[in-house]
Amino acid sequence: DTNKPGVPHGMPVFGASGRRIIYDEDGKPCRSCNTLLDFKMVTHVQKDARPSGSTTNSALSSTTASAMAIPMKKVAETTQYARDEPPDVEQLGKASWSLLHTLAARYPTEPNAEQQSDMGQFINLFAKLYPCWFCAKDFKKYIEENKPVLESQEKFGRWLCNAHNAVNVKIGKPKFDCNLWKQRWKDGWDN
Ligand code: FAD
Repeated sequence: DTNKPGVPHGMPVFGASGRRIIYDEDGKPCRSCNTLLDFKMVTHVQKDARPSGSTTNSALSSTTASAMAIPMKKVAETTQYARDEPPDVEQLGKASWSLLHTLAARYPTEPNAEQQSDMGQFINLFAKLYPCWFCAKDFKKYIEENKPVLESQEKFGRWLCNAHNAVNVKIGKPKFDCNLWKQRWKDGWDN
């Protein structure tokens, strides 16, 4: 449901990618819900010419460091990661699916009652807390209509694959063959 919270007055409906811009309740563009390109477009953030991670120790003169009264080691520590942007909807999604499918790959083949309960709670909380709010909303609905199947690793892995496919279909990506979920996420293709 992209109509909630809605498009603030005077703000663009669509981004440079052609996707609808998603806004938070406070009217600001949602960082975890949009692509970085669209987020930057809508927030008018100038793209820095330097590539990610290019601010090295040597780029900061010792004069600058001493003028700022920060030891060089400290400068290196504070600037080493500074060029990485918070994840956009795609980075967050890819990382999250990796975690979820890898959890399925490590889930016991015959989980006991506690292990099933733990995973059920995790999936529910994941859906509740997922930072892209409109993704979370649809994922919660999916879970309500398709309860996680937790009786075995195979069943859970397939349930997750189907859940992922529902998102793939929603956003126009091809479906993944769920017969291959274990090769992709557990055994590797050479086994
Ligand atoms: P991803 O879809 O992230 O997949 C990563 C890898 O998983 C693929 O390369 C492939 O090897 C494998 N894979 C693909 N499909 C399956 C499958 N069915 N089973 C097992 N493995 C598979 N984005 C939106 O734009 N709108 C949304 O509403 C939205 N909802 C999301 C909800 C959740 C819970 C999550 C975790 C993400 C959501 N995303 C959403 C992000 C979206 O699903 C993708 O992660 C993102 O578009 C990046 O896609 P990708 O092509 O890198 O591959």
